[in-house]
Amino acid sequence: MKALVYKGPRDVSVTNVPDAKIEEPTDALVRITSTNICGSDLHMYEGRTSVEKGKVLGHENLGEVIEVGDAVSRITVGDRVALPFNIACGFCKNCERGFTGFCLTTNPGNAGAAYGYAEMGPYSGGQAELLRVPFADFNCLRLPEDAEEKEDDYVLLTDIFPTGYHATELACVQPGNSVVVYGAGPVGLLASYSAILKGASKVMIVDRHPDRLALAESIGAIAIDDSKNDPVEAVTEMTNGEGADCGCECVGWQAHDPKGHEVPNETLNNLVASVRPTGSIGVVGVFPEKDPKSPDKLMKKGKVEFDFGVFFSKGLRMGTGQADVKRYNRHLRDLITTGRASPSFIISHHLPLDEAPDAYRHFDERDDGWTKVVLKPNG
Ligand code: NAD
Ligand code: ZN
Repeated sequence: MKALVYKGPRDVSVTNVPDAKIEEPTDALVRITSTNICGSDLHMYEGRTSVEKGKVLGHENLGEVIEVGDAVSRITVGDRVALPFNIACGFCKNCERGFTGFCLTTNPGNAGAAYGYAEMGPYSGGQAELLRVPFADFNCLRLPEDAEEKEDDYVLLTDIFPTGYHATELACVQPGNSVVVYGAGPVGLLASYSAILKGASKVMIVDRHPDRLALAESIGAIAIDDSKNDPVEAVTEMTNGEGADCGCECVGWQAHDPKGHEVPNETLNNLVASVRPTGSIGVVGVFPEKDPKSPDKLMKKGKVEFDFGVFFSKGLRMGTGQADVKRYNRHLRDLITTGRASPSFIISHHLPLDEAPDAYRHFDERDDGWTKVVLKPNG
C-alpha cells in the first residue's frame, strides 16, 4: 500500500510499504478515506521527537471497515468509522475511568498509545491506504447515514475537536464564562469553538497569523494579535481588569515570540497572568519529557520556568495532558449529526496522499491559508 513515511527532519515521502493487515482477532482493517495532518505531526516533522525513520505517520483517521478479526462483534464490514487518535484497550484501570489517552496496556511501560506517533507504541499511522485498528469494538466510533456528506466534520472527531473540547473541560468552562485561548491553530480554533458551544460569554484568542485570527473572528471569538498588542494587557482590559475566568493553552513547548524565537514558557506564564484569581487553566499543547534539540536550556530537560508564585497566590488550577477522545467523541458526533456543530470551518485543503510532502511543508511554514489539511489516500 502507499503510505507517508518519516525519513528524517523535514523529510517525509510517500512510498510503498507492506499492506496493513489483521494481526489480532480483536483488530479491524480500515480503508482510509480521510486522514489529517496535525500540528502534533509537525513536532516530529521538525525532528524534535525521537520518532524512528520509516514510521508511517497519521493519527487523525476516518474510513470504511473492510475486514474484522474473529473476536470483533460490534463493528462490521461496511461501517464508516472515525478512529480516536488514542489506541486504548477499554479494560485497564485508566480506560475504565475514561482516561483512554492513558491506556496502560496498549503501550506497555507507558501510559497512552496512538497511531503513527513518537513514543506512543509500535502502531503505524493512517496517512496510508489501509490502517490496522486494535481493539476495534472499543476504538471505532460508528458514523451515521450522513457519514460521507459530513466527512469533513466527522474526521475532526478523531483528534482536534475532542482535544479543543478537552481544553475547555480542563479549564472548567461554564456558560457565561470569559475564556482566553493561546494559539489559533486548529486546536485553539476548536477550543474557542467548544467554549462558544458551551455558552461562554466572551472568547478571546491570541496568535499572530491574520488568516487564523480571521477564522476565529468568523465564529464570534475576539482576535488578539500578539505581534501588535501585549496579549495579557489586552485580556485584562477586555475583562474589566479582572482577567479571564478560564484559559486554554493550545500551542505547546515550541511556543515562540512573533519573530520566531522559541520561548517554551511564554504561553503558560501569559495564562497565569491573564486568568483571574481562582480561575482555571487547561493545557493541551504538548510539553515533552525532554527535548535535547530545544534552544532553551531548561526545555532540553523537559523543564520550564513557571510563575508558580503567582499561580499559587491567585489560587489557580491547571489540568494537562492528551485528550481522552472517547470521553467526548460520541456526544460531539451527535452535535454534528443534528447540525448543532460544524467544526469543518477550519479545513483549508483536501489533497491526494501523493501531495502530502508538499502539504507538510506548507503547513509547517504556517503559510497563509494552510490551516488544516485533509489527505485522501483512496481518491
Ligand atoms: P499549530 O502548530 O498549527 O498551531 C499552533 C498555533 O500557535 C500557531 O498558529 C502559532 O502561530 C501559535 N503560537 C505559537 N506561539 C505562540 C504564542 N507564544 N502565543 C500565541 N500563539 C502562539 O498546531 P495545532 O494543530 O493547533 O496544535 C497545537 C498544539 O496542540 C500542538 O502542541 C499539538 O501537538 C497539540 N495537540 C495536543 C493534543 C492533545 O491531545 N493534548 C492533540 C492534538 C494536538
Ligand atoms: Zn492530531
